[in-house]
Amino acid sequence: MTQIDSQASPMIAQYLALKAEAPDCLLFFRMGDFYEMFFADAGIAAASLDIALTRRGEHLGLPIAMCGVPVHAADAYLARLIKAGHRVAIAEQIEDPAEARKRPGKTIVARAITRIVTPGTLTETSLLEPKRANWLAAVAPGAGAMWGLAWCDLSTGAFHSSAVAVTDVPAELARLNPAEIIVPDGWDGVAGTPRPPLEFSPALGEARLKSRFGVATLDGFGRFSPAEIAAAGALLAYVEATARAAVPLLTPPRPELPGSAMAIDAATRASLELARGPGGERAGSLEASIDRTVTAGGGRLLAADLGAPLTSVAAIGDRLQLVAHFVADAALRGRARASLAAMPDVARALGRLAIGRWGPRDLAAMRDGLTLAIDLKRLLAAPSLAPPALLTATLGNIGAHAGLIKGLHEALVAEPPLDATAGGSIQSGYDAGLDALRDTSRDGRSAVVAMEARLRSETGVTGLKIRHNGVLGYHIEVAAKLADALMRPDQGLIHRQTLAGVVRFSSVDLAALATTIAAAGDHALAAEAAHLEGLRDLVLAEALAIGETAAALARIDVAAALAELAATDHWVQPRVDATTAFHIIAGRHPVVEAAVKLARGQFVANDCDLSSDCRLWLVTGPNMAGKSTFLRQNALIAVLAQAGSFVPAQSAHIGVIDRLYSRVGAADDLALGRSTFMVEMVETAAILSGATPRSLVILDEVGRGTSTYDGLAIAWAVLEAVHDDLQCRCLFASHYHELVSLKSRLKSLFTATVRVREWKGDLVFLHEVIAGAADKSYGLAVARLAGVPAPVLARARAILTRLEANRDRSGGIAAGLGDLPLFGTAAPAPASDPLRERLGAIDVDAISPREALDLVADLQRLASGDAESF
Ligand code: ADP
Repeated sequence: MTQIDSQASPMIAQYLALKAEAPDCLLFFRMGDFYEMFFADAGIAAASLDIALTRRGEHLGLPIAMCGVPVHAADAYLARLIKAGHRVAIAEQIEDPAEARKRPGKTIVARAITRIVTPGTLTETSLLEPKRANWLAAVAPGAGAMWGLAWCDLSTGAFHSSAVAVTDVPAELARLNPAEIIVPDGWDGVAGTPRPPLEFSPALGEARLKSRFGVATLDGFGRFSPAEIAAAGALLAYVEATARAAVPLLTPPRPELPGSAMAIDAATRASLELARGPGGERAGSLEASIDRTVTAGGGRLLAADLGAPLTSVAAIGDRLQLVAHFVADAALRGRARASLAAMPDVARALGRLAIGRWGPRDLAAMRDGLTLAIDLKRLLAAPSLAPPALLTATLGNIGAHAGLIKGLHEALVAEPPLDATAGGSIQSGYDAGLDALRDTSRDGRSAVVAMEARLRSETGVTGLKIRHNGVLGYHIEVAAKLADALMRPDQGLIHRQTLAGVVRFSSVDLAALATTIAAAGDHALAAEAAHLEGLRDLVLAEALAIGETAAALARIDVAAALAELAATDHWVQPRVDATTAFHIIAGRHPVVEAAVKLARGQFVANDCDLSSDCRLWLVTGPNMAGKSTFLRQNALIAVLAQAGSFVPAQSAHIGVIDRLYSRVGAADDLALGRSTFMVEMVETAAILSGATPRSLVILDEVGRGTSTYDGLAIAWAVLEAVHDDLQCRCLFASHYHELVSLKSRLKSLFTATVRVREWKGDLVFLHEVIAGAADKSYGLAVARLAGVPAPVLARARAILTRLEANRDRSGGIAAGLGDLPLFGTAAPAPASDPLRERLGAIDVDAISPREALDLVADLQRLASGDAESF
């Protein structure tokens, strides 16, 4: 790119030096009210943002490309650039231009990169989703089969780490769905933002973490593996490098114990639509459909809970009891939710205060949030017979913050302005000095009004006005035709400007008054700023405790929200224990049920029992009968139960599941360039090697993506492997009703089918899962429902009849297919036998008795050779 050379103007030299500091970023170069971009950056940004590219001056004999965005609208442009995959370094003016001018010679304002904005280090409220954490993750390769993972959310300060088996890293990343992942440069384990490998050194990482958190040892935070420390240290290094002088909020890292959460891989998350619906957005997902939280923090915690269902029976029980507490007392729940609904996002306000991009409203959010938290604590701590343990613990984490709350209440006005420079954030009566300055400024303004009246009477010009603008400051204005009288020297006015209709003057008295007003205003603002800074320091001194309070509020919101859902949608408390039971009575699919209800339909509840003698269910039935829905609803019920939620069923007993797998055959993954069938087999292989006897496996139409015989063979073999080797709980749906014959050999195989009824040739779906097997595939009936034309259906039926007849013969299933009579114009019509053709075209299922009679008459005519009648 461009090189620094001796001919560069001082400004371009400064620009190039800054650009060299952040070569992988677009550089936002602050010039007055704009961030300007130059050279190649300008071209990229102009194209990406669809803004005008201009030229200015030259460098090395070539014009310099340039474009800019206004500072006040920079967030929106930043968001678009980050979304488009860019990183942006922001260079601010770090001195007052007036200072620079004082220096001798031709000087330019000093500038420095104050921060680097990347997808994972965003803290701008407008760029974040309120109910989604914005994770920045680091992956560090470990010595053995375990890698280190660390992740943090700078908007709230949350910071976690875990040691993860290499094979589970993709699953963990799928759970977190990080906005950005950092990895050692030159390592090809995981794709991400490359960072110097040295930053991933466990020893350096440990030192960095210790110094950041001011501790002599990390033992107080928990036990970390070296790879975990490496990841956490690299994360911290990156955060510090991008935030520069600002110090973002970070709690000490919390190690997550391996195995403490149900393992759910990326394919399973996608197939169950846990966090993202069919369109890839939150809408339509389990998370969106069950979210009744009323705070952003609650929404983020619910997402985290659903993403990582627990495996500890005790911890699950604690959460369930808290939900039950709110289910049992609707009045308490209502009051708690009303109080929470008024709560500002304390965690993110704290994040903004810490990082230094904050306003008076963030202090007000602290004041109001912490005050409401105390009220809520009082409400919930009211004596109850046996408060759930998690309630007691959670309320214990809501701090009193008495001094801070008092300070904020005394200092701040009820609704401070968004921007501190507007003034008026601090209450009158709080600081006598500030009040005096404000009085002076206010008195000054009354003095201006008085001066205006005096000038009018002295000059006799009643239309005279004293006005204020940015260029002249305070000035006297009269209509041009009356100005002559004021031009006389004895009037003591100084002519400043003649415009089309008006003439403007200043005066010595007015200038003196203006100076007093401005000085008082400036001093008042400075005094306010000092108070606001002081209040911010008070808040930050309690940052960790406030973070705990915010987390406690989120926990209560989640529990009350799940209770609300349970009460309104008739969900029940599941029994979760250490057995391998899985017994659901009248279970429902929460998302499909909502959709069916919306269409004024009735969702059919179904039972499922995967006890040891029937732990493998083979569910057969035609397409559209409801097999997938049934399979997934059981997986979702397991996720909900272990996340600590009630479940959509009449009763549920679940032995803790360690790993959940869900696979659906025939999902095209063209983006990755893998065939449907290949994907299916890769995923199936992952299950066969990963599932344990405590796992739950959902296989939906595995083997669909290949030929009938291959598919059946694979489905067959997988069923045997699940039954004999994995011995886990499994629901297996297939349209290969031939698989049912395995029942005699696999003793824990249970066959179920979804009931359908054929009525007048149509298929009616009853969505009811019963013991037994589908007697046939009903493929043709489904095709008919879908509107496949009658001649094609008739042809398919003829082929099917022949195939079935051939099944047991040598020469292959398709033997003799070539002899099948054809129809239509695509093939030579067997003109010699119109009778046969006519017979072949009859759609037996579709024909009414009356039509049948007519047909017989037709056929007779045909047989007698009277073909003209057609
Ligand atoms: P399959 O997997 O057998 O092809 P699906 O599970 O995709 O069938 O279900 C097809 C449709 O049937 C669903 O979109 C839903 O509208 C409806 N459906 C499925 N199960 C039920 C049920 N238990 N009660 C009511 N409607 C259902």
